Amino acid sequence: MDKYKKAIRENVCEICVDSNEKGFCTMNGEEVCAVQLYLPKIVEIVHSLDSENIEEYYQLMKDEICANCNSLDGNGACYLRDDVNCSIDRYYMIIVDTIKKVDAGLI
Ligand code: SF4
Ligand code: SF4
Repeated sequence: MDKYKKAIRENVCEICVDSNEKGFCTMNGEEVCAVQLYLPKIVEIVHSLDSENIEEYYQLMKDEICANCNSLDGNGACYLRDDVNCSIDRYYMIIVDTIKKVDAGLI
């Protein structure tokens, strides 16, 4: 998992709106980053699919991650997603691409 964590830090955190100019996360101790929290599951999902259609990965993340996330309410809505405040939802394209590149030995 370390190679994925490192690649996420270098490719996602670097451009994340919650990072500083040096790419370090600025979230406080009470906040939780969904990418960090769910990374093993995200990697599992990426490995379970072989598709060029990024939306298939997104849908699987919603089905398997959001469905079990505390931020989801009983109606299937998420206030963090609605506020563009979930790192998975904001960056799923880059996240999937980064994991695939790690697997291909490109990064
Ligand atoms: S919120 Fe998550 S993705 Fe963004 S900088 Fe912090 S750890 Fe990285
Ligand atoms: S979009 Fe909401 S429910 Fe889905 S992982 Fe992010 S915070 Fe959790």
